Amino acid sequence: MFRPTFAVVDAPAIRANVAAVRSLLQSDKRLLVAVKADGYGHGAAAAAEAALAGGATDLGVASVEEAVALREADVTAPILVLGVSSAVGVRAAAEFGVTVTVGRIEEVDELDKIPWPTTSVTPTSAGAEGPGRTLRAKVHLKIDTGMSRLGVRSAADAVLLAKRIVASERLELAGVFTHLACADASSLAHAQAQIERFQEALSALRKAGIDPGIVHAANSAAALRRPDWHFDMVRVGIAAYGYGPARVFDSPVPLLPALHLYSCVTRVATLQAGDTVGYGATFTAPREMRVATLPVGYADGYFRILSNRASVLFHGRRAPVVGNVCMDQLMVDVTELPEVTVGDCATLYGRSAPESWTAERLSAAAENDLSVFVGPFFLAENSASVLSLDELADLAGTISYELMCALSPRVPRVVLSL
Ligand SMILES: *Cc1c(COP(=O)(O)O)cnc(C)c1O
Repeated sequence: MFRPTFAVVDAPAIRANVAAVRSLLQSDKRLLVAVKADGYGHGAAAAAEAALAGGATDLGVASVEEAVALREADVTAPILVLGVSSAVGVRAAAEFGVTVTVGRIEEVDELDKIPWPTTSVTPTSAGAEGPGRTLRAKVHLKIDTGMSRLGVRSAADAVLLAKRIVASERLELAGVFTHLACADASSLAHAQAQIERFQEALSALRKAGIDPGIVHAANSAAALRRPDWHFDMVRVGIAAYGYGPARVFDSPVPLLPALHLYSCVTRVATLQAGDTVGYGATFTAPREMRVATLPVGYADGYFRILSNRASVLFHGRRAPVVGNVCMDQLMVDVTELPEVTVGDCATLYGRSAPESWTAERLSAAAENDLSVFVGPFFLAENSASVLSLDELADLAGTISYELMCALSPRVPRVVLSL
């Protein structure tokens, strides 16, 4: 680590969050943890491992590419691709033992147009080699009940698509699901209407003699708030990473933020009244003040809109961001924190770093394994203050999800061991 900016991924926290969600489910329910978008920025393989250790049965990703990357990282758990896959994508998914989502009849038609593999040849009773069997891709049928994003839009179309899937020798119908748009809202009326439409489609399928397989609808918000909407499986993302989907309701179980971002001071300067800070000179020192520079910026995922709005923590105390956030650096006002000096570690979000984390010590520890140096701080029950991603998200006009996903691959992730 030559630049003193790094993120800590508290994998044991992900495990604990997943176990906490698990404790809300009846024992026969499945628990899918969404690890799309590189595990909401935490690292997909690390998040998957922690989630499975916490009791997840399934993993969710956005694309076949993300699923294949997990298979290549030796993840053997069931994986569902939640987004749309091309025909060749579905074929690759079948080969990697990954389940895909289908929401249009045309997607099934496209499969018939491409060459398709057979499984290894089946021995005949005479001991000779017989013909191979067609490889089948497992699919979950998507029903659009009010998100207007993917899936069939009526019960009748759900039956048509399900019949088409069942008739295809390349596919196996393994599940049926929908996605809720407003399960995190203060009123659950919209979600309730979606659930009712979902139930209509399910009964139409059953009436048509179709076994829907694994039925699921709930994201984190619905999983936490509505046990009666759990069906056979819930799909949890944000809660696994330690944040509530919204602050209009309290999580019934404690959630521990898993992502923490730190950067160490590279310079402290004394400014005179009238001096300006950063591109565009958007901040002018009203009096003599001390300004510290941190080597982290919007290219690392710390949004520029946080300029002159957010603050960072030094040992639990706030230092406001002054001037525009640059691509690779930003400046903070440490006038009220006279002890802050070059090498001190600032917390951009997450648990406030202890005083012992200086650039020099972190860099020395990184020569071996930084997680061994920083790990004990996270495992200890401590009262360190936390700068929540919810707070930054409010200041940036977004949600915690977007800030997590925005953490750039440039920032080294220090993953704490399970
Ligand atoms: C990402 C995703 C989830 C998880 O949503 P959270 O709000 O993070 O729990 C669930 N279902 C689908 C279809 C998704 O794409």
